[in-house]
Amino acid sequence: MNEMNYNIHQVAENTWAMQEGTMVSSYLVIGSETALLIDAGGMLPEMRERVEELTGLPVTVTLTHGHGDHIHCLKQFESACVDPADIELIRGGQTDIGKCVLKPIGPGHIFDLGGRQIEALGLRGHTRGGLAYLDRQNRLLFSGDTINLGPVFMFMPESDFDVLIAELKRYDAMDDFDLIFPAHNKHPIGPEKIKDMIACAEAVRDGKIEGTEPQRPLPPGVKVYMKGDCGFFR
Ligand SMILES: [Zn+2]
Repeated sequence: MNEMNYNIHQVAENTWAMQEGTMVSSYLVIGSETALLIDAGGMLPEMRERVEELTGLPVTVTLTHGHGDHIHCLKQFESACVDPADIELIRGGQTDIGKCVLKPIGPGHIFDLGGRQIEALGLRGHTRGGLAYLDRQNRLLFSGDTINLGPVFMFMPESDFDVLIAELKRYDAMDDFDLIFPAHNKHPIGPEKIKDMIACAEAVRDGKIEGTEPQRPLPPGVKVYMKGDCGFFR
């Protein structure tokens, strides 16, 4: 993919999506003193320059998880925050992150951007070290891959379907966000979509949805399961 496939657009006040085609979206969240880049995904060779066009403030990079499509641009940055449980995914993966230093953070970590605080929350299931990022004041949630209309990749060794269902229920019970910005597919989505994801996930778990052959190259045996606009590769 080249830069032409990139779409950089404002999604809320001082908040930008940097989206590679219909693929991965990274988000730039800007405060009064610093900015936070949530994921450095896609293959934009000048992602850092594009970020610096949007803000002159110092930028901290943080990751929703360690999968390759979210970290391709890390080599353009000096460091990135990540949950320690996903560091091995990055180290053992195919993506060259250059000299980027990985800094462990966990649930409860707060990025104070100046007038805007972003809290890291555990959001496991898709990977063991998945993190979501909550802008409590503005009621925005950046959810990575675990909450997205999917199909969500759930066939890898680092994925756990029961954990995913438990996490979806935990987030469904929260009343902290009005808009969710997933790293894939449509954004934003409303919190009511979590209920749809739970219904789909439970139907898949209980064998009530027939899987079909995915229209993309995936490991043998992986099928796609859809219910409405939610789905899983499993
Ligand atoms: Zn992923």
